[in-house]
Amino acid sequence: MPDVGIVVVSHSRSLAEAAVALSREMLQGKDVAVEVAAGLDDGSFGTDAMAIMAAIEQADRGDGVVVLMDLGSAVLSTEMALEFLDDAVRERVTLCPAPLVEGLVVAVVAAGAGLGRDAVAAEALDALMAKQSHLGAAAPSGGEAAAAAAAAPTPSPESGAATVTASFTVTNPHGLHARPAARLVQEAAGFDARVELRNATTSSAWVPATSLSKVATLGVLSGHEVEVRAVGAAARAAVDGLVALAARSFDEPAGQAPASLPAPRRATSAEVPVAGSVRTGETPTPVPASPGIGIGPATVLRADPTRLVLPADAHVGDADAEHAALTEARAACRAVIAATRRSTAEHVGEGEAQVFDAHLLLLDDPDLVDEAEARVAAGEGAAAAWAAAVARVESAMAALPDPYLQARAADVRAVGDQVLRELLGITDPAADLSGRAGVLVAEELTPAQAAGLDPGLVVGLVLAYGSPTAHSAILARARGVPAVVGAGPEVLDIVEGTVVALDGATGELVVDPAADVLARMQERAVAGARAREDAAALASAPAVTRDGVTVLVGANIGSVEDAREAARFGADLAGLVRTEFLFLGRQSAPDVDEQEQVYVGIAEALGGRRITLRTLDVGGDKPLPYLPMPAEDNPFLGVRGIRLCLARPELFADQLLAVVRTAHRTPVNLMFPMVGALAELTSALALLDDAVARDGRPRPTDLEVGIMVEVPGAALRARTFAPHVDFFSIGTNDLTQYVMAADRGNPAVTALGDAYDPAVLGLVRAVCEGAGDALVAVCGELAADERAAAVLVGLGVRELSMSPRAVPGVKQALRQVDVGAAQELAATAMAAGSAGEVRRLLAQS
Ligand code: PEP
Ligand code: MG
Repeated sequence: MPDVGIVVVSHSRSLAEAAVALSREMLQGKDVAVEVAAGLDDGSFGTDAMAIMAAIEQADRGDGVVVLMDLGSAVLSTEMALEFLDDAVRERVTLCPAPLVEGLVVAVVAAGAGLGRDAVAAEALDALMAKQSHLGAAAPSGGEAAAAAAAAPTPSPESGAATVTASFTVTNPHGLHARPAARLVQEAAGFDARVELRNATTSSAWVPATSLSKVATLGVLSGHEVEVRAVGAAARAAVDGLVALAARSFDEPAGQAPASLPAPRRATSAEVPVAGSVRTGETPTPVPASPGIGIGPATVLRADPTRLVLPADAHVGDADAEHAALTEARAACRAVIAATRRSTAEHVGEGEAQVFDAHLLLLDDPDLVDEAEARVAAGEGAAAAWAAAVARVESAMAALPDPYLQARAADVRAVGDQVLRELLGITDPAADLSGRAGVLVAEELTPAQAAGLDPGLVVGLVLAYGSPTAHSAILARARGVPAVVGAGPEVLDIVEGTVVALDGATGELVVDPAADVLARMQERAVAGARAREDAAALASAPAVTRDGVTVLVGANIGSVEDAREAARFGADLAGLVRTEFLFLGRQSAPDVDEQEQVYVGIAEALGGRRITLRTLDVGGDKPLPYLPMPAEDNPFLGVRGIRLCLARPELFADQLLAVVRTAHRTPVNLMFPMVGALAELTSALALLDDAVARDGRPRPTDLEVGIMVEVPGAALRARTFAPHVDFFSIGTNDLTQYVMAADRGNPAVTALGDAYDPAVLGLVRAVCEGAGDALVAVCGELAADERAAAVLVGLGVRELSMSPRAVPGVKQALRQVDVGAAQELAATAMAAGSAGEVRRLLAQS
């Protein structure tokens, strides 16, 4: 008969001994080896790997041992103890996740009955069955119990009746990638509640919502349903907050998620002759990651040999000293990352800088830090403890099925290495890329390295690994450095100084190119560079067509930083200020003073140029916590934009007063979104009159008023609105989704929602025809497309507004336009049979 031993691992010796005494009551004299490894030698709470190892050896009579543990570091210490055991003994040990007291009682009885090791462990796992059936809960059996407990959307046992649950669907195109996940974690951490999430679509286990790395392992993709549950004083507020945040797409502005990139192009071996290496078989497959031609001598960033090499003494240490060292190292990294974030926001862009918010969260991620701290408490050195925790989290992310989420493993590694270097006192020779010139070839770049690339010196980037959605690639695009990634480790063999040519739009990579190939690439590079230089040199000049018509080119902005960027790229005005940025992600609305201050700040950052303040454009799809709205089946057709503002006049009145006050200080266009009926406009204008009266001064002379045209009905009846407005601004993003009945957030109908569809162009034309003296602008994404410039001007549009970086190129495109020819082109485009036909027409013109 098997003679299985039991070991009890607990933080508390008295708890373990009492539990063992209780279980022995059931044995009725039978002899079962039950050993305790609990508490520390000085009588305090804790677990000790060496004591656990000794207890296992003691309990083992040849038929193996089942170990039951209480929580947290008890598990980690036991895992560590296994590493110290002889191989033969280790193979006879089962770590059993059963509840300690109930599991122990059942396990001791089973062992006493002569069951084998697996059967003893399975019995222990079923130990809650009696209690569950008594209390009426479902009672899954055997190994299924743990999985079911993890997956079931029921409150965790200690949460009791106060558990609040809800679910939401993630609509962000890339799912819960770093930025939205970071936003979710920040939100969850702000409530006095324990909040957990699971991916209901994949039936994942529950994870803490305050752990970025755990949230990332849920693998939430666009369209996945996520369940949320919370216990604690603010459980309801926490759940509501997360549901509202999800409805706002985690405050991720449209278009901020990484753009989709051209499909990878397999290079022929002739195109990738890597000098100095003899290769056979598979050639590397460079993936286009940042458009543009880069030609120059290779500067190869070889892997840092110190990476991940821990000194022999890194594995043990004094718990207090190692805890202090880890805390200090994290604090030092926090300061460095915060500084990188500031400089990235200033020199690259606010959106790109948000990568570093995710890094800051990872530094404090409970999943990482708790494990590292538990290992330190169990006697491991800080560096080894941190490295082990990072390795676990990194490999969990790398194993996710979605390539975008896999790429987040690089972020974990970047932060992990940063802290490790700090702990080991190693400076990374590659951390500072300043002074590097030519085509930079590297394994991978950390986001901080990529943010530090100097586009004046680094003409191209070739990464052996990485992906186009990694932050290094996103930052290379933002810095305007042509890049290919995933080129294979062979590229690291490129001899320093060898000429490398790459096309970041196609993925073409040529090492040591033949003269004719070099000449062809150089021609492309020269043409592209000349075009960009010409555009940049003239960025601040007005865009005047060949026949003398001035077209205003504005920027769409959502922060003061964006306004600075718009000024840098020569925008003539802010053609769209999405004022929601000031209202989202907070628990109460900004007051009139705060709004005025921010609006004036935006105008100042733009050097006093005109700003177009769009009034609050939120609603059922983007609810505000302080503006509860009934749930709507079709929020895009519901109470959003001007409809919401008119339904909640208090909020609207304050915003209008802030706009009036701002317009006394700087030129302002006031713009109402989602207007569909004349009555909406006249009501809004009456409220504007009230705001002027409340301000007490005459109406500001520099205040102009207009509407966004997003509702097809408004486009068709522009003539009705024209007498009441100074301008129309066509929001082609929403207009297209309404005209084509194709949800702009639903990838399944992306192809239908094409702003080049002749139906959309026809409505643009209808607005221009009905506008009378009012100026017609376009501020949807279509405006940023250089190829659209001629057709829009031909239709009668006289202002285009877009993301700041697109301004110089669109101005340059407008300068090539002849209005007469553009009108003919527009007529042909409107008569085309499809969006594709329009695109082909424009490509040929
Ligand atoms: C639009 O709908 O085209 C637009 C510019 O507004 P938003 O993208 O903010 O909805
Ligand atoms: Mg819109």
